[in-house]
Amino acid sequence: MEELKKKIITEGKALNEEVLKVDAFLNHQIDPVLMKQIGKEFAEQYRESGITKILTLESSGISPSVMTGLELGVEVLVARKRKSLTLQEGLLSADVYSFTKQEQSTICISSEYIKDSDCVLIIDDFLANGQAVLGLMNLIEQTKASIAGVGVVIEKQFQKGGEELRNKGVRVDALAKIERLEKGKVSFTDEEVHI
Ligand code: 5GP
Repeated sequence: MEELKKKIITEGKALNEEVLKVDAFLNHQIDPVLMKQIGKEFAEQYRESGITKILTLESSGISPSVMTGLELGVEVLVARKRKSLTLQEGLLSADVYSFTKQEQSTICISSEYIKDSDCVLIIDDFLANGQAVLGLMNLIEQTKASIAGVGVVIEKQFQKGGEELRNKGVRVDALAKIERLEKGKVSFTDEEVHI
């Protein structure tokens, strides 16, 4: 997606060879115009897939998911990373190792919001080693609902998550694919750009 790549070039920062900072438009400050375009793009890709629910992880997955849900006319379920007083009954949970925080956490959703007949699209901001997506898939696998695919805003292809998921037969769609990060430089799968 060209608009996203431009944004990564102009406002993203490669902190090192592994981490891309996109606080300017996705992880801290949010660009609503870009999020709307992202929602349209995911919706186009999954328009014929019979999606009835989007599942994401708080907090950075929420904005692209809501925009996609708006386009597809389906609700968005947000897996929580922290315990909540209002979220106690019928909990489904999965353990996730966080790439950015380097710690294990438990994510959960209420089974109340997933029906057996649901066809779920999983959306997240980044795909690195795949732990977050595997955790989200695990939640759905505890139900009778099906998973149509995984949409990620940015995939870092030099980390193993995307390949592992695709090898398992999971449909994975990324709007920007990064081949390599070096301090101050991002290489997309099809071009190299200095930022
Ligand atoms: P994974 O679970 O695939 O290893 O990592 C994905 C999760 O870690 C995402 O939910 C995202 O929040 C975070 N993450 C992974 N890599 C990056 C990165 O390069 N930059 C930022 N900002 N977040 C990342």
